[in-house]
Formats: sequence, structure tokens, C-alpha cells
Amino acid sequence: MVVAIMRSVVAAAAFFGSAGAFNSRGALRGSLLARRSASTLRGGGVQLADGHYEYLVIGAGSGGIASARRAAQYGAKVAVVERARLGGTCVNVGCVPKKVMFLAASMMEAFHDAPGYGFHNVDVKFDWPTIKANRDAYVLRLNGIYGKNLGTSGVDTLSGTASFVGPREVSVGGKTYTADHILIAVGGTPSMPSFPGAEHAINSDGFFELADLPKKAVVIGGGYIAVELAGVLKALGSEVTLVVRGARPLKSFDDLICETLVEEMGKVGMDLRCSATVSSASKMADGSLSVALSDGTAIEGVDCLLAATGRKPLLEPLGLGTAGVELSAKGFVAVNEYQQTNVPGIYAVGDVTGNVELTPVAIAAGRRLSDRLFNGQKDAKLDYAQIPTVVFSHPPIGTMGLTEKEAVAQYGQDDVKVYTSTFVNMYHAVCTRKSKTAMKLVCVKSQKERVVGLHVIGLGADEMLQGFGVALKMGATKADFDNCVAIHPTASEEFVTMR
Ligand SMILES: Cc1cc2nc3c(=O)[nH]c(=O)nc-3n(C[C@H](O)[C@H](O)[C@H](O)COP(=O)(O)OP(=O)(O)OC[C@H]3O[C@@H](n4cnc5c(N)ncnc54)[C@H](O)[C@@H]3O)c2cc1C
Repeated sequence: MVVAIMRSVVAAAAFFGSAGAFNSRGALRGSLLARRSASTLRGGGVQLADGHYEYLVIGAGSGGIASARRAAQYGAKVAVVERARLGGTCVNVGCVPKKVMFLAASMMEAFHDAPGYGFHNVDVKFDWPTIKANRDAYVLRLNGIYGKNLGTSGVDTLSGTASFVGPREVSVGGKTYTADHILIAVGGTPSMPSFPGAEHAINSDGFFELADLPKKAVVIGGGYIAVELAGVLKALGSEVTLVVRGARPLKSFDDLICETLVEEMGKVGMDLRCSATVSSASKMADGSLSVALSDGTAIEGVDCLLAATGRKPLLEPLGLGTAGVELSAKGFVAVNEYQQTNVPGIYAVGDVTGNVELTPVAIAAGRRLSDRLFNGQKDAKLDYAQIPTVVFSHPPIGTMGLTEKEAVAQYGQDDVKVYTSTFVNMYHAVCTRKSKTAMKLVCVKSQKERVVGLHVIGLGADEMLQGFGVALKMGATKADFDNCVAIHPTASEEFVTMR
């Protein structure tokens, strides 16, 4: 495989241009320049050997790119290896294209609601190929921006698949590179269920390849990806069955959220089959699928069988055994709180560690690692507690901290106080479609009612959570919430007026 080193003179010039942008931050610029001269003249003035880097990052996804660029800002000599498109899962087959589809689905809901607001004769024809083409073009633009940003940061991009040939040696396209520090940021890939006919199923990667809106879809899975993609298809007009192995979707979420989600799915006619699995899928003469479930029923005429049944780390071509890197019991790369593997100089961040598999988590862990390795911030590490997260379901969900059950298990029933509010958002006042909003604050009584859990499902929940996340990280109590004057009329004001 051809190894392309895409670090041009132009990129180098751009890098120094961007270093110039740090002029107003004198300290950072000073540190950058000091590191840069140290990186080119190491070990008593010896030039770095060809193919040797201070930091070699495997995987140009969320964590890898963030860590590589941060290290380069501190002046380290950095390369990132990528075998596919820049940006990783999030940009190409994850958060970004998924959010575009969520927005399209939300727009469809708005068209349904339009007559209530006085918009008559709204005659909408949804065209999947148009949104797919626009979405793909957007992702392509992002690929280019990521490449440009790596160049302007001074990071070498090596195209190809990396595999370890020694503890500090990595082969890419037949050439061996060495490094002082190596970061494994290879992410994950969908894992597929096993049943007769499973070869007819697509996964979330395949969802983004679909050329048209399926007429009848069966989605397998109870996690957030299954819930989100099933919701998109349903809102856009597919007939959807969601098959969940557990008693309910999103089973680790707070009861109030799950119950409201199930209710909302029922309202829009999602066929939800809980405590069920797909036992087989067969291709029929007309090309459609017959999907048999463990409850003895079968769904006929299916033109899309989508499995969103979890993800596994992408370890296959890496040769971790050669480097002596150990895995956890669940098969992820085992790291300590500083993202260190058992092998000195080899680190891992992001989905490959199996620790809170979200883009901002991979980014934050990668940046803190570079802060520690290349900027002397010896205690820099990511706090994995209280990470806010959103599910782009219909309606969306925001959640942070402990569920009520988790709080009771941790603090005891008597020490937990819960505040809830359930209402219909004013948006729906004039529409026929009524979607519920439900909120919960979980507080610890003995800690001045410190809020340890915040949960919301409803219109706007996705944009509501970030600010409250700051408050929770700062240790806000219920009294702090109450002391903040409400913003009216909004849904989020309920969080500061709960009784
Ligand atoms: C459908 C879907 C929706 C999602 N939605 C959200 C969301 O809304 N919000 C959110 O926060 N997260 C979301 N995620 C999760 C998010 O995408 C991941 O947590 C994030 O991308 C992980 O980043 P990473 O750096 O660990 O790995 P990745 O982003 O997956 O990057 C890993 C990179 O390494 C490359 N690679 C792998 N092996 C090698 C090798 N041997 N040599 C060279 N390169 C290699 C891969 O090609 C890839 O580009 C979603 C995921 C999916 C699948």
C-alpha cells in the first residue's frame, strides 16, 4: 500500500501561520517554540531520524486527531496513521451523518405540526436521495477540513493500515516508523448478531449507504444507536419494528426516561417488541425479507433489516500481541486513568478502551494525554464521572449522572430526594401531535441536596443539557437551581422551579 506523507511546504507555512495565531497567548507560543526546537534537536543536538516521531498516533478519528493536534501545538514531531477517511466513526458513519438525519426527521415532524400553526396546504414530498447526497457532500467537506487542520497543525498524515512490529515500532504500507510515544486510537466497528439469514442484515455503517427510504424496516437493538435510527426511519415515513432483547430500550437510563420514550414510541406507531430477538431472516421470491422473532411472530415484506447490536474494538490488524499490549476481560485495550497501557510509551484513548464510547470523551482524553506528555501537565487526565450525554431520539433525551436507582444503591433510599415534572411542551399547544416532556432531578439529602443526576426527555432536551452539565460538575445543589431565575416560557425553566 502506498504511504503518502501529506506534509507539504504549504502546510508547514500554514502551521507557522497558525503558531502566529497564538501570539496573543505569549506563554503558549513560548512553550510551542521551545518544544519545537527540542523536537528537532534531541539527545544532545542529534536530528530526529527519518521515520522517527516523538508521537505516533494510530487512527485519525475523534481521539487521535485531537491528541495529535494538541501535541503538535506544543511543538512535538507528530504523525497520525489513518487507513480510511479522516475523521473516523463520528464524522463518516456516526454522530455527524446521524445528526443530519435526525434533523431531517425533526423537520418532517414540524411539517406535520404546521397546520396547527396556520400553515395550510403543506404538501411535502420527502426525497431521501437528496438528503443523502447533501449529507455525503457535507461529510466529504469535513474530511477535507480535517486534513487541512492536520496540515496546518504540523502533523504528518500517513495513509495506510498500522500494525505493530515491535514495542515502539509500527509498520505502515511496508515502511517501519518508530516513536517515543504511541497512541492507539483505532476506535470500533459494529458487531453483528448471529442467526440464520443474518447476512441479509445491514449495520449502522450500511444505514448511511441506503439509497432510499425503506418502506418497512426491522431494527434490532436496544441501545442508543438502534433507538435513534429507528426514530429517524419512523419519522421519515417507514413502517418500523424495533426488536429489543431486554425488557425495554435504553435499559441503563432512568425509569422515567425509558417509560416516557416507550409511551412516545407507541404514540407514533412504532412497533416495539421487547424481550424478543430475531431468530431468522429469509429472502422471499419478491426480494423482500421475512423476519422471524423469538416470540413466534414473523414480519413479512421487510426491505431493511438493520442490526445495531453493539460495537467492538477494531484490533484486528494492529498486532497488539507483538507489542505486548494487554486487553481487558471484555476485549478492549486495558488502560489506567492516565490512558497508559501495560507497555511503557503506549497509550490508548476512545472507543478502543471501551470507556464511555462518545466523541467528546475520546477528544478530551486525547487532549489531556498530550497536555501531560508534551506540556508538563503531569496530573492531566480525564474525569470520566458525570459525563452529560444526549440520545437523538424522538423526542430527544438528555442525561447526566446517576439514575434514581443508582443513587439509591449508592446513598441509600432515605438519603435520596427526587424531583420530577411531566408536561406537554407549549409547542404542542396548537398542534394535534402531543409529545411529552419528562424531567427528573436526583439529589442527595445529606449533601445539601446536591444534584447527582439530571434526566430529561422532550423537545429541546438535546440543547438543554450542556449548561446544566456545567452546574452539576460544579456541585450544584437544588437550592442553587432554585436560586436561578427561570427563563419563561421555556421547557428548561421547569428544572429551576421543581417542587
Ligand atoms: C451510528 C453512530 C452514531 C453515533 N453518535 C454519536 C453521537 O451523537 N455523539 C457522540 O458523542 N458519539 C456518537 N457516536 C460514537 C462516536 O462516533 C465514537 O465514540 C467516536 O468516534 C470514537 O472516537 P475514536 O477516536 O475512539 O475512534 P474513531 O472515531 O472510530 O476513529 C478510529 C480511526 O482509526 C482508524 N483505524 C482503525 N484501525 C486502524 C489501523 N490499524 N491503522 C490505521 N488506522 C486505523 C479508523 O479507520 C478510524 O478512522 C456514534 C457512533 C455511531 C456508530
